[in-house]
Amino acid sequence: MDWFIIGTAGHVDHGKTQLVKALTGQDTDRLKEEKERGISIELGFASLKLPNGKNAAIIDVPGHERFIKQMLAGVTGIDMVMLVIAADEGVMPQTREHLDIINLLQVKKGLTVITKVDLVDEEWLELVQEDVKDFVKGTILEGDPIVKVSALTNLGMDELKTEIVKISNVDEAQRGREGQLRLPVDRSFTLAGFGTVVTGTLWFGDVKVGDTVEVQPVGKKTRVRGIQVHGEARQSAHAGQRVALNLSDVEVEEVPRGSSIVHIGAFSPSHKLDAKLMLLKSVAKSLKHRQRVRVHLGTSEKLARVNLLDREELLPGDETYVQLQMEDPLIGQRGDRFVIRSYSPMHTIGGGVILEPYGTKIKRYSDAEIEILEVKEQGNPEQLIEHLLQKSADKFISLNEIANQLNLPREQVAPLVKNAADVYLFEGEGLSIAASKRSMEKWLARILQELKKFHEKYPLREGMDREEVRSRFFPKLSIKEFNLLIGRWQNEGKIVLKNAYLQLPGFTHNIGGPMAEALEKAERAFLNKDFQPPAWEEVSQNLKVNTGEKEEILRFLINQGKLIKVADGLYFHKDSIEKAKSLIIKAFSDKEFMVLSDIRDLLNSSRKYVLPLLEYLDSQKFTKRVEDKRYLAKR
Ligand code: GDP
Ligand code: MG
Repeated sequence: MDWFIIGTAGHVDHGKTQLVKALTGQDTDRLKEEKERGISIELGFASLKLPNGKNAAIIDVPGHERFIKQMLAGVTGIDMVMLVIAADEGVMPQTREHLDIINLLQVKKGLTVITKVDLVDEEWLELVQEDVKDFVKGTILEGDPIVKVSALTNLGMDELKTEIVKISNVDEAQRGREGQLRLPVDRSFTLAGFGTVVTGTLWFGDVKVGDTVEVQPVGKKTRVRGIQVHGEARQSAHAGQRVALNLSDVEVEEVPRGSSIVHIGAFSPSHKLDAKLMLLKSVAKSLKHRQRVRVHLGTSEKLARVNLLDREELLPGDETYVQLQMEDPLIGQRGDRFVIRSYSPMHTIGGGVILEPYGTKIKRYSDAEIEILEVKEQGNPEQLIEHLLQKSADKFISLNEIANQLNLPREQVAPLVKNAADVYLFEGEGLSIAASKRSMEKWLARILQELKKFHEKYPLREGMDREEVRSRFFPKLSIKEFNLLIGRWQNEGKIVLKNAYLQLPGFTHNIGGPMAEALEKAERAFLNKDFQPPAWEEVSQNLKVNTGEKEEILRFLINQGKLIKVADGLYFHKDSIEKAKSLIIKAFSDKEFMVLSDIRDLLNSSRKYVLPLLEYLDSQKFTKRVEDKRYLAKR
């Protein structure tokens, strides 16, 4: 990774902005108000080329307690944190709160900077350093370097740079960085001549100029007109970079901080998210079931109620499974870290990890529900895939959907699905979809049962119309999905597809008794009359079966190809037609053409039958009519 994102943290006035300036020469307090008041309000950005070739971006966050929201939006997605503590003041309230936050978000790397050392003497500095050591114990910063600097005299700055380089050299496997595009927006503004611009740390995936993307959770579609990475124009950007996107067809109000830029259809806003939640040890009050809190996830802040799933209150320092019931929906992924703050007064009180971004109504105090969440928390991907498939019983789930829900790259998911026990993968018809063994068994049992009933009821029919089976018994499956399913069963010999009809393997028309007699009688009636076939009504009158069975017999004779429909209400036996054809061919041996009456006499029939028969033979390209003459068609 040649990109490296550093975030600052620490109490207001402890020298964060000054330190960034000393490191980069850039002043991150850009706003007029920031200059006048000498305080950071918004996120600031500076870039720093490290001696090891990496491009570092520094996100300078405000330290004041009123701007924790901005701080949270800034530190989300960073690679490393720089906790800044002024030597003269030591650990202060927002030093604590910021450390809590980076700890809850599980920022992977970091260091502590004691700054303003020029303001204190040696003895005091030693005390502060001991204090800081104690303070970071048990947090992600325990054991990490503590560097002492003065941003005014530059004392210790070289050492700080060295430590930053060291940390940036340690490449960590970036979980799911190849996943689906997800850019939590931390700033949006209008730029003269460009229009709407959003910035953020690209969490997952790639984005290219020209991509059509979606703003979530509002679902607004927009196009990426331009991209900047760490301030330079690019054609594309990748996970782990600081990016600015110029978006078309979207107003700046439609992409406020907290929005996410994602690929179309990759995420849906969710009202219920299942999570593991920890309440900070330092909070004074326990968290009650259904307590209203602010959820900070990505760059967004949304109100929610916390449903505690196995208790009435969560005590400080404890953790448990919860469902966040959002007042406004947000988008999340399994594995997302989040922070919660109390509604009023606003304090950071806890945080945790999302286990299921698309929660459904959960029964409290249910062992089964908790077990599922445990699998989601600790389970291996195979188990999770099986679980996901169980959840989507009676339908297919696409590999893209699985990848997204598990927050794993698509390429990683495909082999997992292939190897997962009890999971069937289907590829074809432009789809990559999976179904659980249970769904498959259920579907097959259903279809076999329906076919059995059908064959019993209609022994003279070939089977059930495929599309009718789908729409009647499998309405949740698309035509393509159903075709894949039938194809698989056909290959496995579980089912037979004959023309458009589904039938049981080994199916034969099981005809006996009065039906067999009637069938034979009907066929004979046509054969006997050859070129002057009887009307069906006439034939059926003499059959000793019921009306429904009579219809079945006609349908059967047609489906079997024994009777051929020559015109409406006029059927010829197949043998009669063959006979007529050979008589006609013979007659043509010494003629170039014949007229209707010639053929009528040849077949010893009447115009009533021969006219439609000839039209049928014309349509079959056996004969050809020119005016009133018939020729033998070329073959
Ligand atoms: P921030 O709120 O943490 O960003 O703090 P600033 O960087 O804005 O600094 C607050 C004040 O401390 C400013 O007046 C700075 O000039 C001053 N300051 C910052 N770093 C140092 C330092 O190393 N030595 C001294 N003496 N003053 C500093
Ligand atoms: Mg500042």
